[in-house]
Amino acid sequence: MTLEKFNYICLIWGIIAIFTFVLLQFVKAPYGRHVRKGWGPEISNKLGWIIMEFPSFGIILYFYISSNQSSYASILSLLWLFHYFNRTFIFPFKIRTKGKKMPIIIVLSAIIFNSINAGLNGYFFSSLETYTDSSFLNWKFVLGISIFIIGFIVNQVSDYKLINLRKPGELDYKIPRGFLFDFISCPNLLGELAQWLGFAIMAWNYPATSFLVWTAANLIPRAISHHNWYKKQFKNYPKNRGALVPKIW
Ligand code: NDP
Repeated sequence: MTLEKFNYICLIWGIIAIFTFVLLQFVKAPYGRHVRKGWGPEISNKLGWIIMEFPSFGIILYFYISSNQSSYASILSLLWLFHYFNRTFIFPFKIRTKGKKMPIIIVLSAIIFNSINAGLNGYFFSSLETYTDSSFLNWKFVLGISIFIIGFIVNQVSDYKLINLRKPGELDYKIPRGFLFDFISCPNLLGELAQWLGFAIMAWNYPATSFLVWTAANLIPRAISHHNWYKKQFKNYPKNRGALVPKIW
């Protein structure tokens, strides 16, 4: 496939994300604290996470081992694999959600979302990339990897703090405090957004950009829903917190 045709596909995929963003202003994705009846058959929450995140890991791994990627594309593939190894094989075993379920429709839609994003990015790295070793000296690499690493740390620390608000066996919710939680409600989602912003800067291509747009389309409405949920749930919820931007939003 030519690069031009491929970019066109990524563009259409990115535009679909914008429609999804609009849709998610009206519909709260029904998993985690927003899970509710009426969304069809359900499966275990932990199993759902493993199944829905696996395509992101497996597809990039397939492209990585079956093609001869440049060093630069290999680093991008490895960063992706590093993130999704954690999300698929570690995160689901750490969460304290014993007995919780998620609708199969969430799992299926995430499989589609993850497969297309990983497919587009993996295909680019295996068949269309033209990176050279000098790409490592470019500002895009230096800035992008810095944002990616900061985002990863923020995501990990925040998820760790959230998960450990519960003692093993507990299922209730508490007000998170400390670290970036003193300023915003969802630093874990902000960290994840930063990671894929950094990745898009490093990759500087259409598929990583459309993945960033998809990530924003999912995570911005989710952060707003989480923030509104906290305010409704806890009368003493700190007033100065934003969803993703301190004091503002
Ligand atoms: P949440 O912040 O809702 O939950 C993270 C974990 O902490 C869950 O196990 C949750 O339990 C628990 N938890 C959260 N808040 C509290 C609280 N106040 N008290 C007690 N326990 C709490 O994160 P999401 O489920 O939205 O996302 C999980 C991860 O997946 C994040 O790192 C996110 O960035 C990533 N993600 C990425 C997406 C993408 O498009 N790339 C899309 C969605 C998520 P419970 O499940 O019971 O609520």
